[in-house]
Amino acid sequence: MKVTEHIAKAGKTLISFEILPPMKGKSIEHLFHHIDGLMECKPSFINVTYHRAEQIFKKRPDGNFQQVEIRKRPGTVGICASIMNRYQVDAVPHLICGGFAKEETENALIDLHYLGVNNVLALRGDAPSNQKFFSPHPHGHQYAVDLVEQIINLNKGKYLEDDIVDEGKTDFCIGVAGYPEKHFESANMELDLKNLKIKIDSGADYITTQMFFDNEKYFSFVKNCRAQQINVPIIPGLKPITSKKQLQVIPGIFHVDIPEDLTKAIMACKTTADCEQVGTEWLIAQCRELLAKKVPVLHFYTLGKPEVIHKVIKAIL
Ligand SMILES: Cc1cc2nc3c(=O)[nH]c(=O)nc-3n(C[C@H](O)[C@H](O)[C@H](O)COP(=O)(O)OP(=O)(O)OC[C@H]3O[C@@H](n4cnc5c(N)ncnc54)[C@H](O)[C@@H]3O)c2cc1C
Repeated sequence: MKVTEHIAKAGKTLISFEILPPMKGKSIEHLFHHIDGLMECKPSFINVTYHRAEQIFKKRPDGNFQQVEIRKRPGTVGICASIMNRYQVDAVPHLICGGFAKEETENALIDLHYLGVNNVLALRGDAPSNQKFFSPHPHGHQYAVDLVEQIINLNKGKYLEDDIVDEGKTDFCIGVAGYPEKHFESANMELDLKNLKIKIDSGADYITTQMFFDNEKYFSFVKNCRAQQINVPIIPGLKPITSKKQLQVIPGIFHVDIPEDLTKAIMACKTTADCEQVGTEWLIAQCRELLAKKVPVLHFYTLGKPEVIHKVIKAIL
C-alpha cells in the first residue's frame, strides 16, 4: 500500500522507521534482528536509505595508491524486497540523483515495480565526502525535482526511449525531503520553500522532514508550507540524542540546531546511559506533543538505536 493510502486510511498517527543497509560484508541478520525488535511497534512502512558510491584511494602492493570506487552500503532494493517478504510491511526505498545516470534510475524503478514496491522517497543526495559541492552525473539529474519528474513520467508509461510511450505504467507514491530549519545550501527559507513547492507541484505526494529537536521548528515549517499552498502530508522525522559527541556531530552532518535546554541537560550527564535517558525523555516529550497535534506519522531515524526508539514508542502509545 502507498504511504498516502496508509495515512488516509488510518485516522490516527502512524509509526514508521528509517533503516540503513548494513556495511558491505556485514550480515543482514544483524539488520533483521534490529527490525525484529521494532516490529512490535507495528510500523506502517519502513524506509531504507540509499548510499552513493565514493571514490577512495587504496594502497596497492607496490606502494602506489589507486583510485577506486566503492559503495559502502549497497543493497537498498534487495533489503526492501526482503522486508516486504519477511514482515509483510511496506518498504520505502530512497532513490538519489547523485552518481546515477537517468537510465540506471529507470532500471532501478523498473526493478522496484516488478518487486511490488510502489513507494519511493526521491532525493538529490549530497556531494561525495571528498567534494564540497554536489554535481550531477553527466547523464543524471541536478535536483530532486528532476527525479520526481522522471518517476511521474514512468507512472504515465513514458520511458526514456522515445519509442516507448504509453507502455507499462508504474504506480509509485513519491515522497520528497523537507527542511524545517532550511536546506543548508539554500540562501533563505523562502527560496527553499519555493523549491519544495516545485517538487510538490511536479507530482510528489508527501514530505518527510529532516530531523528536528524543537517541535516549534516543525510547526512553523508546516504553517509556512500551508501558506505556500503545499497541502500534502508532512511527516516529521525524529531521532534521539544518545551521547555528548552527537551534540557536535549532528549539527555538522544534518545542519540542524540542538536546543539549549537539551544541550545543557546532555552536558550535565556523567555517563552515556544518563545521556541516553535524557535524550529518550526529550524525544518522548516531542512525540507526545506531536501526537496531540495529530501529525500523520511519527517517522523515526533508528540509526543503530532500535532499543531507544522502542522505549520511546512504548512510552507514548
Ligand atoms: C527524509 C530524508 C531522507 C534522506 N535520505 C537520504 C538517503 O537515503 N541518501 C542520501 O544520500 N541522502 C539522503 N538525504 C539527504 C539529502 O540527499 C540531502 O539533504 C541533499 O543535500 C538534498 O536533497 P533534496 O532531495 O532535499 O534536494 P533538492 O530538493 O534537490 O534540494 C537541494 C537544494 O537545491 C535547492 N533546489 C531544489 N530545487 C531547485 C531548483 N529547481 N532550482 C534551484 N535550486 C533548487 C533546494 O532549495 C536545496 O537547497 C535525506 C534527507 C532527508 C530529509
